[in-house]
Amino acid sequence: SDGLGKTRSAVKQSLDRFLGRPPDQALIDDLEASLLGADLGARVVDRLITQVNEQARSVSGTTVADLQNLLSQTLYGVLKPVAGSSLEELLNKGPKPFIILVVGVNGAGKTTTIAKLAQRLSQAGRRPLLVAGDTFRAAAIDQLQVWADRVGAELIRQRHGADPAAVAFDGIVAAKARHADVVLIDTAGRLHTKSNLMDELRKVKRVIGQELPGAPHEVLLVLDATSGQNALAQARQFHEAVGVTGLALTKLDGTARGGILVAIAEELKIPVRLIGVGEGVDDLQDFNAEAFVAALFG
Ligand code: GDP
Repeated sequence: SDGLGKTRSAVKQSLDRFLGRPPDQALIDDLEASLLGADLGARVVDRLITQVNEQARSVSGTTVADLQNLLSQTLYGVLKPVAGSSLEELLNKGPKPFIILVVGVNGAGKTTTIAKLAQRLSQAGRRPLLVAGDTFRAAAIDQLQVWADRVGAELIRQRHGADPAAVAFDGIVAAKARHADVVLIDTAGRLHTKSNLMDELRKVKRVIGQELPGAPHEVLLVLDATSGQNALAQARQFHEAVGVTGLALTKLDGTARGGILVAIAEELKIPVRLIGVGEGVDDLQDFNAEAFVAALFG
């Protein structure tokens, strides 16, 4: 499953209304509303609807297929410049160990995404090392341990309440000593003390860079697609604090507003690397702009 079923069905309904009718203003308004409802963002929707209006004015006998093509091409034009490399490509051309700092608010799906990634990486013959940098939640450390054991990866951890920067430091030292390929560093995501959290993440990042110049090689922000515009606000904050280099959008399967992915990528110009399309350990996919567009309008 591409995870976009719910988002697609709303858009498809309004596209289907064009069947066998000339695209009049009421139909176009309806389409605009459904695109906005999918959370594609006002700017992107404006571009799409401008194209549709032009087509409707200049070409008589526009078919639904024509519209699908037009919408697909325009949206692809928005996404392609921010498509970026896949994680696999980054790992292939990047240094070893390749350090990935995973950030995001509690509940976004950080732990699950790390677990899914660890499994995928070890299945691909790499040696991931996990680092339990969310020392604020004892449960997060234990949960990560369960996942690490399950996929046969090592977990670097300290006691509950330890300094996250110290845990990250340990993780880098261990990765160098044990020739790990990839290091996945979990971090805290408590929302109620936001400025402290951002300070803490900045410190974690600084310490990583001191111990391994050039690292982290990826700051991966995990966002819950079901949180809609909140996800966009979070993306701005995290980006400002720690310089996000890649996005993972989780729970696309649980929302009719999967277009938020486009709004975020378009505004922040940060590539979407991964999408979460379910709770299972295999439900993590590389983001593919072409497939996404086809799934939305196809
Ligand atoms: P964290 O607090 O950021 O570490 O979040 P967790 O990894 O614990 O995830 C929070 C909840 O979201 C869990 O119940 C996960 O199973 C669920 N979750 C994570 N990713 C996905 C996804 O792609 N799809 C669905 N449906 N649920 C997800």
